[in-house]
Amino acid sequence: MSNDNPSDKDLGIPDIPMKKAIIVKQSTIRKDTSETKFVLIECEICSKTISMPVPRKIIQNSTLPVTDVTYIHGNPQHAITAQLDVDFAVRRRRTSQIVYEKDYLE
Ligand SMILES: [Zn+2]
Repeated sequence: MSNDNPSDKDLGIPDIPMKKAIIVKQSTIRKDTSETKFVLIECEICSKTISMPVPRKIIQNSTLPVTDVTYIHGNPQHAITAQLDVDFAVRRRRTSQIVYEKDYLE
C-alpha cells in the first residue's frame, strides 16, 4: 500500500455539488437581536422574500401554539400576516391590502 492518497481529481471523481443557495438580497438580511427575530417570508405583493421583524415577546407571551403577526411594509403599504409557531417557523401566511379609517373620516 502506498502512503500517497490520490485526490478525487486523480480518481476522476467529480466535486461535491454545491447546495442550491437561497438567494436573498444583502439589504434584506437583518440580524436577530435578543428582542427581535427576523423571519424570512415570501411576500406575494412585494414578489420577493422579505425579512419580517417579530418581537420575541409576542411569541413568548402567546398561549397559542400558532400566533398571528401582521407586518405592514412596502410602498404602497400593504400587510402580510404570518402564523408563527413557537420556533418562529412560518406555518401559514397571507398578504392583504390596507384600508385606512382616516381616509373615510368626514
Ligand atoms: Zn410585501
